[in-house]
Amino acid sequence: MPEGHTIHRLAADHFARFGGRPVRASSPQGKFSDSAALLDGMVLDRVDAHGKHLFLGFDQVGWVHIHLGLFGKLGFGDGKAPPPTDTVRLRLAHPDAYADLRGPTTCALITDGEKGAIHARLGPDPLRPADDPAAAWGRIARSRTTIAALLMDQTVIAGVGNVYRAEVLFRHGIDPYLPGRDLSRAQWDAIWADLAALMREGVRNNRIDTVRPEHEPEAMGRPPRQDDHGGEVYVYRRTGQPCLICADEIRTAGLAARNLFWCPRCQRRPAAG
Ligand SMILES: [Zn+2]
Repeated sequence: MPEGHTIHRLAADHFARFGGRPVRASSPQGKFSDSAALLDGMVLDRVDAHGKHLFLGFDQVGWVHIHLGLFGKLGFGDGKAPPPTDTVRLRLAHPDAYADLRGPTTCALITDGEKGAIHARLGPDPLRPADDPAAAWGRIARSRTTIAALLMDQTVIAGVGNVYRAEVLFRHGIDPYLPGRDLSRAQWDAIWADLAALMREGVRNNRIDTVRPEHEPEAMGRPPRQDDHGGEVYVYRRTGQPCLICADEIRTAGLAARNLFWCPRCQRRPAAG
């Protein structure tokens, strides 16, 4: 599933290609045909993203709410659009560019009020400048749930996925099994600030990189990571490989329906007392 930086990037990419211009809208697959007919010829004048939710705003018609889920894909092309395949739920096009949406969990035309209700049930998003980390802290500080599971709960904090959760906990030396209520406010503020910086970088580069300069391949004289997810990371999908800091073996376990990765030495819980 894409993480929040991908969705914010898709919002910006839509606006760069289609913003301020009337677009042709169609649903070759048919499931979105009635709504696409309402959008056809309208101007895309706003885009928004919150966590893993993408919103495309068409003046006077409303918002297209998209959630890609596990299997959804959004692909852009330049120039005149080729004939669509019948798996395309929504195609937006004008003579210079097109975008094809396939296999989303959600693609729906919604009102401002319905959009507001979606924002209301999501936690703050580190990529939304006005969002307040205190709203997430209110939940975390009272919770017996592990911090690793809380970071994946979109109603607590929106946009963090499996890579960012593993990496940010490593970067702060936090045991992923630490209950939320045992995290300090200072640790939370540091996690939030770090996520905001890492995810902004992710939007810019369209890739997740979490390794500090001193742990880059060149700095350490090690080969770069080979992984179809790209990017240099400390623990994500590095099970059994040596930690870049302490050389201990990176471990994995299932948590909150996804695999968790961590270094048992760098991310030790402080002794009780
Ligand atoms: Zn380590």
